[in-house]
Amino acid sequence: MRIATLTCSDCGTIVSANELESNRVMKCPGLDCEAVLRFADLPEGDRQHVLDNRDQYRL
Ligand SMILES: [Zn+2]
Repeated sequence: MRIATLTCSDCGTIVSANELESNRVMKCPGLDCEAVLRFADLPEGDRQHVLDNRDQYRL
């Protein structure tokens, strides 16, 4: 299965899209990084993919 991810533009930390989907807005988990990552920052195709596959992500 394809896993959609978002890469922090500040530090390069990769966050899984399903994690973003459950939080909507989250602080970047990268060390010493204050960037805020939003589900809305994902490309539309990735957002749709996560929403379509919710059940598979939430095992
Ligand atoms: Zn970051």
